[in-house]
Amino acid sequence: MSKVIILTGAGVSAESGISTFRDSDGLWEKYRVEDICTVGCLVSNRAQTLDFYDQRRIELKDKKPNHAHTIIAKLKKKYPKEIAVITQNVDNLFEKAGLKADEVVHLHGFLTNLECERCQEVYDVGYQKTAQSFGGKCPICGSDKVRPYIVMFGEAAPNYQLLYRAFDDCEMLVVIGTSGYVINTDMFLNPTIKISILNNLEPSPAINDRLYTKVLYKKASEAIDEIAADVETFLK
Ligand code: NAD
Ligand code: ZN
Repeated sequence: MSKVIILTGAGVSAESGISTFRDSDGLWEKYRVEDICTVGCLVSNRAQTLDFYDQRRIELKDKKPNHAHTIIAKLKKKYPKEIAVITQNVDNLFEKAGLKADEVVHLHGFLTNLECERCQEVYDVGYQKTAQSFGGKCPICGSDKVRPYIVMFGEAAPNYQLLYRAFDDCEMLVVIGTSGYVINTDMFLNPTIKISILNNLEPSPAINDRLYTKVLYKKASEAIDEIAADVETFLK
């Protein structure tokens, strides 16, 4: 339950050197989403799918949070109850910026974790490849059926419950770096939301920007100070 929700997507990590899905140099130009991010691909295309997430996990090691992660983390530390930080991202840049696991909700999983398909244990593997961490086996039950802790398209996303619950008390919504294709952010703009801020690089066909109180089409690192000031003004 929070007065302010900061909902982020791939765009907030773009300036840290992590490709978004839909921008021009995005991952989807190099991979077909149905091959590596869709329900069933761990069965029909297991080796390439594991390899794709192994590469993303290894790349993450050297990525650093940018100014937007840092300011959002500071805001959350200052207003722990009033602000919910919720992200579609699977990177750990908010954690690298100082947030603890219980201070940020990851809706679509977390790259540095694996999940056992037999006993459902979720465990941290850092930046290791799936086959190398614990010898490629679940540390609890020993099964070799382990998978990236990533929600594929078409799979259930249990943390959406936390997202919907957070909106019960929400009066201010900040949307940063998401095209709105996976989560339609417009649908949250009910009358209880008094202020809504949208920050992307450019308009997205999946978002009706006329619905938002303030729209900032610029880099997140350039928009975040103004956004933070608005959040602080609202919470004062
Ligand atoms: P998207 O790729 O569909 O859209 C990215 C959005 O970010 C665009 O609207 C673009 O205008 C904006 N953007 C790009 N650079 C920006 C910047 N510097 N500052 C502000 N905005 C910027 O991303 P999405 O809506 O999050 O959906 C993609 C899905 O893919 C999500 O489910 C997410 O889990 C996953 N994904 C995650 C990561 C990651 O963890 N970093 C990276 C790629 C994809
Ligand atoms: Zn197990």
